[in-house]
Amino acid sequence: MAVPTPVSRLPRVGTTIFTVMSQLALEHQAVNTGQGFPDFEPPLRLRELVAHHVGARHNQYAPMAGAPALREAIAAKVARHYARRASPETEITVTCGGTEALAISIQALVGPGDEAVLLDPAYDSYEPIVELCGGVARRVPLARPGFGIDWERLATALSPRTRLLIVNTPHNPSGACLTAADLDRLAELLRPTGAFVLADEVYEHMVYDGVGHVSLNGHPELAARSIVASSFGKTYHATGWKIGYCVAPPALTAELRKVHQFVTFAIATPLQYAIADFMQECPQWEDELPAFYQAKRDHFVRRLAATRLRLVPARSTYFQLVDYSAVSDLPDTDFALELIRRHGVAVIPVSPFCAAPPPDARLVRLCFAKEDATLDAAASRLAAL
Ligand code: PMP
Ligand code: GLN
Repeated sequence: MAVPTPVSRLPRVGTTIFTVMSQLALEHQAVNTGQGFPDFEPPLRLRELVAHHVGARHNQYAPMAGAPALREAIAAKVARHYARRASPETEITVTCGGTEALAISIQALVGPGDEAVLLDPAYDSYEPIVELCGGVARRVPLARPGFGIDWERLATALSPRTRLLIVNTPHNPSGACLTAADLDRLAELLRPTGAFVLADEVYEHMVYDGVGHVSLNGHPELAARSIVASSFGKTYHATGWKIGYCVAPPALTAELRKVHQFVTFAIATPLQYAIADFMQECPQWEDELPAFYQAKRDHFVRRLAATRLRLVPARSTYFQLVDYSAVSDLPDTDFALELIRRHGVAVIPVSPFCAAPPPDARLVRLCFAKEDATLDAAASRLAAL
């Protein structure tokens, strides 16, 4: 009998740009300022706590919704930062990174023929999951040059078929953030609709220049129709641990847990206990994170001043967008490939985040979650352009 050939459920999808660029960076021994991950370690105390819990027999399945101690620590954090009282029992779910939080939220809400509105540039995982659900992604470009919401285009994109709007604040790759006024306007726009919101806030603790993060968790009207996703990978320099969570009202939480229990069921037990302890012991960690990353950003910006790249102000996240139009006319992906092969620097092009990148955009993204020596090495190679 002939072996069947799979008919792809995602015929337009290849390997993610982050994986492609990190593999090429290894092959070419390039400085990797592409895929977003730190080249430094999580806090020592947190690593000690993981070892402790592995030794303390915390190695079997955690409860499906997350270890109670961790859900309580998340509830305390959400209350402290955003004055939202979320119930650990019915409103908080621990997930396998932000990625799972996003995927199960979309799967819980989007069905065949439903529309999900995505704001471009949009993180690359959103649309494939919408498609797997039989939904349709309506992509609305963010306004240039500041990457704010284009309210008229968003209003036009909303229809009775809109089931979900996905927002990402702080925004990867631009570093733009929604303001309190933006959230009010969004609430007003959505009031007459039946749309839910998925707020991807994985960079919630990386907002600079004294501006605090404006979370949908802190906006009761929006929170009532939203799932807010975050990631400990970002906050604790531990992207490889893949632990995140989502906060959502009980009815939404009940639906997303139905999916979660059959996708991952439960998340690594010793890591959950360790993070719960660390959050109690070091609640100031996330308050200190903006100064830590702002210093990295400022260092990198000073070094990049010696290049012919034009910097888009990075107000948040650990990404710096640069305009390379003074050094090349190549489309961004070709330019990124040339940078790796000829100059030994890995970056991420912006077009994979967009359905239709504006033809004149000459932007690539650099990650500054790196030791200063790495940032210096990248900048001096880029200065040769
Ligand atoms: N959303 C955005 C905007 C991201 O940049 C990332 C990862 N960098 C994720 C979600 C996924 O987070 P995690 O690594 O915790 O799965
Ligand atoms: N979110 C990370 C980035 O934007 C990458 C995560 C991944 O590779 N899946 O670089």
